[in-house]
Amino acid sequence: MTGGSPPTDAPRLVVIGAGIAGLAAAWEALRVPWGSEGTSPSVIVLESADVVGGKLQSVDFRGRQVDLAADAFLARRPEASQLVAELGWNDRLVAPGTSGASIYARGRLRAMPGDLVLGVPTRWWPLARSGLLSPTGLWHAAGDLWRRSPQRASVPAGSNDAAVGTLVASRLGSEVVDRLVDPLVGGIHAGGVTNLSAAATFPQLLAAASAPGSLMRALRPERAQNTPPSAPASPVFWSLESTTASLATRTAEALVAEGVVIETGATVTGIERVGGSWSLHLADGTRREADAVVVAVPAHPASRLLTGWAPEAAAYLGDMTTASVGVITVAFPDSVINKTLVGTGFLVPRTTHLTTGPALITGVTYLDRKWPTLARADETLVRISVGRAGDTRADDLDDEALLSRAISEFHEVLTTSGAPLETLVTRWSDAFPQYVPGHLTAVAAMESEVDALPGLALAGSAYRGVGIPACIGSGRMAARKLSESWGRRR
Ligand SMILES: Cc1cc2nc3c(=O)[nH]c(=O)nc-3n(C[C@H](O)[C@H](O)[C@H](O)COP(=O)(O)OP(=O)(O)OC[C@H]3O[C@@H](n4cnc5c(N)ncnc54)[C@H](O)[C@@H]3O)c2cc1C
Repeated sequence: MTGGSPPTDAPRLVVIGAGIAGLAAAWEALRVPWGSEGTSPSVIVLESADVVGGKLQSVDFRGRQVDLAADAFLARRPEASQLVAELGWNDRLVAPGTSGASIYARGRLRAMPGDLVLGVPTRWWPLARSGLLSPTGLWHAAGDLWRRSPQRASVPAGSNDAAVGTLVASRLGSEVVDRLVDPLVGGIHAGGVTNLSAAATFPQLLAAASAPGSLMRALRPERAQNTPPSAPASPVFWSLESTTASLATRTAEALVAEGVVIETGATVTGIERVGGSWSLHLADGTRREADAVVVAVPAHPASRLLTGWAPEAAAYLGDMTTASVGVITVAFPDSVINKTLVGTGFLVPRTTHLTTGPALITGVTYLDRKWPTLARADETLVRISVGRAGDTRADDLDDEALLSRAISEFHEVLTTSGAPLETLVTRWSDAFPQYVPGHLTAVAAMESEVDALPGLALAGSAYRGVGIPACIGSGRMAARKLSESWGRRR
């Protein structure tokens, strides 16, 4: 994709990676002043794939565009909605057609109780009525309400972080972790909450667990700090009329219209500091010169690019564990799904055993209930998800074996049977970086190491959030840092 000619005296910015973080960095770079003259930079985005968007991709599936990864973004965080507004696409925002989800527990699907904060119950009665926990599990959870002082195990002394699972288990018992918190928080990160940083993924929990008394009470919205007042009329999530992935393509089109050059099929293999600027080596043997560079690629490729320039950041990123996931889009004849599906779908806890063995599927989205524009007469469209940190079984199965296993488990949970009309398997390797306890401290150290290098900044899901709004925020922040440092360098 090529825009008009950039001005020749402008600072040269190269963004590596055309995922939503890189595209947002390029977008912001054109909106902030560079130096006292306020010149706009010339911007090139280099993307190794043949298409832009990174993990924001969609495909035509039986006559409608269907997202292949992210299908919504959080409305509570402002960054994605703000970008949509700046692109002039407010009238394309769509809210889910339904809400609520179920969890497979104790042999059947059970509606998630109300009053959850990221899977952590804040009231005991809705939890008891949900039937999710055994009597012993409920007894443990009830003990939290009588607690007057914090458990010593909750947040280790001298530490500013702990694993989400450890914090919740120590107060509410392991069943709450296994059946609610791991499916929900772990589901967002495709991770396991026993090794997921509370500071990075669930800061309200860390604050609540550090306070004396009951965790459930401390997390109630009216008590918890940083929790905005509830606004029942506004949706929790948004998508866009044409797909969530269209946020990336629309941003890319707008960038090109503003003169940004987007090169696809352009893999950066190394960066080098030459004099006062950067030289980028590409896989095809060519180079691009830049005054400023945003590295907006996932953790492992970022590690390779930073080796030699920011050794601590490169080491941390290189060692980061990632989870691979698979998304199976399936159309069934309505006659197969011969029951009313409730809510947006269901989650399957990792401790679930089905007749096939330990459950491989992690959740199911009722796509055409969640997004009614996808609905077609006589068929039901679903997405079956597989794969999470610590479970790589899906990677070892070929598409046919994976499909057969996933559909069999889907039918067992829903107590349905019958062949699909059409299926599509999409695999996302190393898609979710795992934020282990201490992650934010490591990110702060990486940022100060990289900030010391003139004209280099990091963006993307490896740092301060995997969701689309967080990635957009990180891209825009990277561009602002570079424009400010350019002003100082001048
Ligand atoms: C199945 C799935 C479902 C998800 N669901 C949601 C959801 O519902 N809501 C939500 O908010 N988030 C969701 N996410 C998370 C979110 O989509 C991602 O975290 C986010 O899109 C990542 O954006 P990014 O720009 O940081 O990285 P990416 O999208 O990975 O983009 C990085 C880009 O860099 C390119 N690249 C890599 N190396 C190089 C190189 N050396 N040279 C040039 N280019 C390179 C890659 O090809 C890629 O295009 C989901 C993710 C997945 C996988």
